[in-house]
Amino acid sequence: MSVRKRTGAGRWERVDVLAYKEEGAAPFKAISRQVLFDDPRLLCQLRYFEIAPGGYSTLERHEHMHAVMILRGRGRCLVGNEIHEVGPHDLVTIAPLTWHQFRAGTDEPLGFLCMVNNERDRPQLPTEEQLAELRRDPRIAAFLDS
Ligand code: MN
Repeated sequence: MSVRKRTGAGRWERVDVLAYKEEGAAPFKAISRQVLFDDPRLLCQLRYFEIAPGGYSTLERHEHMHAVMILRGRGRCLVGNEIHEVGPHDLVTIAPLTWHQFRAGTDEPLGFLCMVNNERDRPQLPTEEQLAELRRDPRIAAFLDS
């Protein structure tokens, strides 16, 4: 069937709400994953992630890129050395090997579409040294501790 109707905020017919990642595989909090489009004839996937208030995605980087559109809620993202407030319909481009993390605000979930290559490398987590380097910027330290 070619149309899957929206059934609620951030929900669609015949789309399973999945775990973000395997528990314990990497640090994250209160985030779900849905694969909206995944067809071998189109060499990308479109996923929808939703972060509950106070939650966050994994701080990571990888060779593949992300093209992100915020769909609902407000939050902040770290991209490289920049921290941005984001809200509905804002677009975020995450270049290769750029550290990134999304954090929901405290009072509403942050939901966003994320397009990726079908075949992609595994995310890298920061080493202690790399994390210390990021934390040298007090704005980034405050972001990571929020
Ligand atoms: Mn990523």
